[in-house]
Amino acid sequence: MTKISMKTPLVEIDGDEMTRIIWKMIKEDLICPYVDLNTEYYDLGLPKRDETSDQITKDAANAIKKYHVGVKCATITPNAQRVEEYKLHDMYKSPNGTIRAILDGTVFRAPITLDCLAPSVRTWKKPITIARHAYGDIYKCTEYRVPENGKAKLSFENAKGEEVFSQEVFDFKCPGVLMATYNKDDSIESFARACFQYAVDTKQSLWFSTKDTIAKKYDGQFKEIFANVYEKEYKAKFEELGIEYFYTLIDDAVARVIRSEGGFIWACKNYDGDVMSDMVATAFGSLAMMTSVLVSPDGNYEYEAAHGTVTRHYYKHLKGEKTSTNCMATLFAWTGALRKRGELDGNNELMAFADKLEKASLDTISSGFMTKDLAALCDLPNITTLNTEEFILKIKETLDKAM
Ligand code: NAP
Ligand code: MG
Repeated sequence: MTKISMKTPLVEIDGDEMTRIIWKMIKEDLICPYVDLNTEYYDLGLPKRDETSDQITKDAANAIKKYHVGVKCATITPNAQRVEEYKLHDMYKSPNGTIRAILDGTVFRAPITLDCLAPSVRTWKKPITIARHAYGDIYKCTEYRVPENGKAKLSFENAKGEEVFSQEVFDFKCPGVLMATYNKDDSIESFARACFQYAVDTKQSLWFSTKDTIAKKYDGQFKEIFANVYEKEYKAKFEELGIEYFYTLIDDAVARVIRSEGGFIWACKNYDGDVMSDMVATAFGSLAMMTSVLVSPDGNYEYEAAHGTVTRHYYKHLKGEKTSTNCMATLFAWTGALRKRGELDGNNELMAFADKLEKASLDTISSGFMTKDLAALCDLPNITTLNTEEFILKIKETLDKAM
């Protein structure tokens, strides 16, 4: 069999712990035997980040800007304990945060679904993708613990130093709390554009929700920016594809999501997205089945698993024990990136391979072979629980039959 060739590289970003081990197995067993893999490799494993004072993370993000497609392994975000464990020179920032800041992207999270893994919500038949606006609001707020009686005011001074707005927020007659949040039109606009573009790319309808009946100016601005971007840039494309843009209040959205059958993108403000993505992920089953893609408004795509480096399993692995770590979300990060590379290069063979590999992995689970996390959720009568490596080799067996 001749291997599928790739004319343009994709950016390969390696990571840490158990996911680093899975990464190597996926490449060696499931991709390289079939594809003449062309990647530009960046090692974001913690030792290499330390060695380069984290420059490697910035280089990787810039490489995605150059090649437009990347695939990333989960990485450790160091805390005090990790600084000690890896004898780090610094407590480096979250690599995902650094990459997101350079690409200015929006993160879309979608579960991998299967008939034998029923979601907790019975009506859900198709995946629900959550898009979270990862900028501003309470994540960039200014807070104050009001210790005594007094007046709180909101004021704005223009660039000339003139106070153009001042209003009393509250006249405190007892201690309390105070917070100010902000957002920027250009950030909201690029969030909107990323959402509409992703809806077009994946041919799914887009829902957007805020609380504009209460926050008339703040959330009202989000609503208006989305409406304008839709009217000016996406309405025609949406109509052509037969998908819709639907705006509703956040509480109405929550009720409709639960009653829906899924199959759409739900764009959320920062806090709503934080909370709702955990709810949706849990209701769909396992964190190991949640995929994630960072899409930037100028057309760059970075695929990854939503879960972390699965530290607990890694420590078992280091002790020589077998683990049953699920490779699905990491595998779908690879297939997502290969398919996008194929799409951008007009490489149909590569796109078809991504489809076949996904199907092989899904068929493997549907025929009863899976890792421990899924065995606990699955409805099938005969289930064989496999360890990390056995599951990957079982997918290979299914794939070889299909090739
Ligand atoms: P985690 O790696 O997502 O794992 C939490 C638990 O979820 C695991 O202990 C395991 O449960 C289960 N799990 C997650 N992925 C699984 C898989 N593929 N197969 C089977 N079970 C899976 O989260 P964490 O332990 O809180 O974080 C570990 C490290 O990952 C941290 O250093 C953190 O900084 C990093 N992290 C990175 C990213 C990223 O790069 N995107 C995201 C989150 C966290 P059981 O132990 O019960 O089996
Ligand atoms: Mg959260």
